[in-house]
Amino acid sequence: MQAQKIQLQKIQLRLWWIAIVWVCLLLSSCTLLQTAVTGQESPHLLLGKPSNATVFNAKDYLLIRPQYVLSYNRDKGIANWASWQLNQNWLGDLPRLPFEPDLALPQGWYQVQPNDYTNSSFDRGHLVPAADRDKTIADSKAVFLMTNVLPQSPDNNRGPWERLESYCRELVRSGKELYITTGGAGKAGSIAQGKVMVPAQIWKIVVVLERPGLPIGSITEKTPVIAVLMPNEQGIKTNSWQSYRTSVDEIEQLTGYDFLSTLDPGLQAVLEAKVN
Ligand code: MN
Ligand code: MN
Repeated sequence: MQAQKIQLQKIQLRLWWIAIVWVCLLLSSCTLLQTAVTGQESPHLLLGKPSNATVFNAKDYLLIRPQYVLSYNRDKGIANWASWQLNQNWLGDLPRLPFEPDLALPQGWYQVQPNDYTNSSFDRGHLVPAADRDKTIADSKAVFLMTNVLPQSPDNNRGPWERLESYCRELVRSGKELYITTGGAGKAGSIAQGKVMVPAQIWKIVVVLERPGLPIGSITEKTPVIAVLMPNEQGIKTNSWQSYRTSVDEIEQLTGYDFLSTLDPGLQAVLEAKVN
């Protein structure tokens, strides 16, 4: 009788262990899945995800890459926004690559082709600039995918926009680490028989940290935040990027996104109201 009881207890104990191991496995696979689905752990989203992008939403489709995170809009044929970290480790000197359609989009979606922009009078404008990701072939390939491209007026792309991109890399070469988010707003028509929408404006938000690797807690009311909003049109080539400075609040209102959302609301309010 006693021996039987002990035997039963042993079996019970074993069953408990099996149950515990199963629950642990289940929980860890859920976390992994959540990371893959939400991008939570990506270094590029340290300051938060501007929209509720997921891999289940065709208008706000989350594309997580080692080089950047972006939200793609299938119906517009362009990204809603792209976010990336920039520090010296990302910078190299590889030559530019040809643009390629993004084969990572879900099956059945139209893949914008490089020649959809041909004769459109718009540049293939990088969201994440080529020169921000030119250290490895894999990095370069990632930024030359058509999901990282929007129709950008040549004067914008090669004028104030390019000068702001260069200024960002100057900051990085002087030792800073940047968290950048960029995208288009409004509608100024379309190209490629309506398959690719042309945004009316292009915006960018840059948070400047003193050096690479600083935690989010190092951000204070004094942390520089650059926000710009530029018209996607001709005739602005010689304008300075500084003349397009605005507040993050302004871009939040325009786009409906929430930037810097991982910061404490009080700090967020201060940083977002400023025009740097
Ligand atoms: Mn460009
Ligand atoms: Mn915000």
